[in-house]
Formats: sequence, structure tokens, C-alpha cells
Amino acid sequence: MDAIKRIALVAHDNRKQHMVEWVEYNWGTLLKHRLVCTGTTGRLVEETIRRKAGDDYPGDFFIRKLKSGPLGGDQQLGALIADGEIDAIIFFWDPMSPHPHDVDVKALLRISVLYNLPIACNRSSADFIISSPLLAKPYEPVMTDYGAYIERELP
Ligand code: PGA
Repeated sequence: MDAIKRIALVAHDNRKQHMVEWVEYNWGTLLKHRLVCTGTTGRLVEETIRRKAGDDYPGDFFIRKLKSGPLGGDQQLGALIADGEIDAIIFFWDPMSPHPHDVDVKALLRISVLYNLPIACNRSSADFIISSPLLAKPYEPVMTDYGAYIERELP
């Protein structure tokens, strides 16, 4: 991971206001990195940071917006993780509501753990990640060696 991180931001509908507040507070730090968001979260995050940053907004390259989560955005994000294109995830998921894309949410959590990415699932964890000194430094997550699994004998 470089000093400039590729940070994914995702918030379920009941958590979007929390995400906007969190971004309003942390926009200055986020501007030093690159963002990847599911569609609706991305729209809100972009509006918030444009409002805060004004003329200092870096440009369209700063936020990559995927499809909306229930329309495949979580799966797109999972694919980016598997390709090594995401460094950290801020995922404000709602533990109190059923979601049409529950299986995608579970898959996103699983793939994040598999690739040993820092993932915050609530605001306090997000505060710890955004304030970590490691955010502004190069960092190599220790990866489990899956060589034996890849080369396994098949029946
Ligand atoms: P959204 O998707 O940002 O497009 O609302 C988030 C999600 O529900 O995964």
C-alpha cells in the first residue's frame, strides 16, 4: 500500500447520515487519498466534500463511483479488493434492517477479511482508522500464503 490510500466508503440507507457527518468531519484527511464508493453513498460523499473543499476539490478522479450496492456495487467493490485495488474500507452497515443484497454484504465482509484489509463497520472503528499514523505511510498487510490451497490435489 502506498502513502496515498484507496479508501472504499459504503453506507446503508439508515447509516448514510452518519457517513455524511463523518465525511464532513474528516474531509481534509480524505482529500489526501482516493475514494471508491457505492453509487448513492458516492453521490452524498462527493456533494459533501465538494461543499467543504470548494476550489480545492481535486477533480473527478478523486471519487470513483460504482453501481448502487443493491444493484451490484458491493460485488464490484469485492472484485476490486480481489484485484488489490483497495487499501481500506469504511462500511457503515445497518445491523437492524434486512437488505435485498444481504448475500453481497456478507461476501464483501468475507473478501475484506481474506485480503487482510482494514475495515471499519461503525463510526468509532472508522475514527481509529482515519486517525492511524499508518494511513499516511506505505504499509504492507501480511498475507496468508494460499499456495498450498491453489496447488491442492483434486480428487
Ligand atoms: P449505495 O449502496 O451507496 O448505492 O446506497 C450501499 C449498499 O447498500 O451497499
